[in-house]
Amino acid sequence: MLRLTLARVAVMAILVGTMTGQNGLGAEKKVPVTLRYLGTAGWEISDGATVILIDPYVSRINGPPPPGGSGSRIAGDTRPKVGWDDIATPDIAAIDSRISRADFVLVTHTHYDHVLDVPHIALKTHASVIGTESTENVMRAYGVPEEQLITVRGGEDYDFGVFSVKVIPSIHSALDHKRYFSSETAPATLKAPLTLKQIHPEGGTLAYLVRLRGHQILAFGGMNYIERELEGLQPDVALVGAAGSRKEIYDYTGRLMRVLQYPALVIPTHWDNFLLPYNASQQTAVDAVQKFVQEVKIASPNTNVIVPKYFEAIVLESAAK
Ligand SMILES: [Zn+2]
Ligand SMILES: [Zn+2]
Repeated sequence: MLRLTLARVAVMAILVGTMTGQNGLGAEKKVPVTLRYLGTAGWEISDGATVILIDPYVSRINGPPPPGGSGSRIAGDTRPKVGWDDIATPDIAAIDSRISRADFVLVTHTHYDHVLDVPHIALKTHASVIGTESTENVMRAYGVPEEQLITVRGGEDYDFGVFSVKVIPSIHSALDHKRYFSSETAPATLKAPLTLKQIHPEGGTLAYLVRLRGHQILAFGGMNYIERELEGLQPDVALVGAAGSRKEIYDYTGRLMRVLQYPALVIPTHWDNFLLPYNASQQTAVDAVQKFVQEVKIASPNTNVIVPKYFEAIVLESAAK
């Protein structure tokens, strides 16, 4: 098991290292960047000094399934069942055991499987929260201080010194066989406690290109994208939504690989069944995601694909030549 992990990491080091870096920042790239999958669309990205979280959701409540029924509850689940009209309650113990620090939290959209844990994480770590007006209004409702809130709409390219982030306009997964649609935005007048429904107005969807230590990591929060918004990007790592609703999209994986100019590494995200606790089997999802891996291999044979395990370190070594 350990040997397998190390092998995975080593392969990564070679493939990513040889294909990154259009900016010549060789020295900068000698510092490894580590990615950890938190489940759902959640990631921790760190160079050891700066910690960036994307859609961190570790509470994994027994909540309602997305429209169209992808993912399902399991029999015998002892966790309390949470409905839309129940108070949104993150699992503080789970968050505190999994997440000790963060400098920035990037949120793709205001759905509970992306945003439920963010107010507590922001209050605890004092991280800046980058997200839509809808996401920031949910933060305000929980008393996250204004100086931590960075509201974006897509199109921004912000420099934070140690890293920069390009905010990319995007679109939500075509759930419910393309019948999903939301134009809702959380209002500025909200005050906690909020119901699950109140923290779940999509508010538009974003993707993020994180540039850190010479790497360019493109992160999606679901199974869709706007192709023209991705033109010219050359990420070496792409975190690509890989759940079944991608099949609603025309040539989802092929178009994406081509427009991104064949990234060195693709890691599927939002492919697991987030309605299950961490210790439940994800074998159904693991089996299903193999089809996505094949799609990438067909569209981009030189791309390395890693199906991430929860909390396992994926180290992007540099090409230190
Ligand atoms: Zn969503
Ligand atoms: Zn989601």
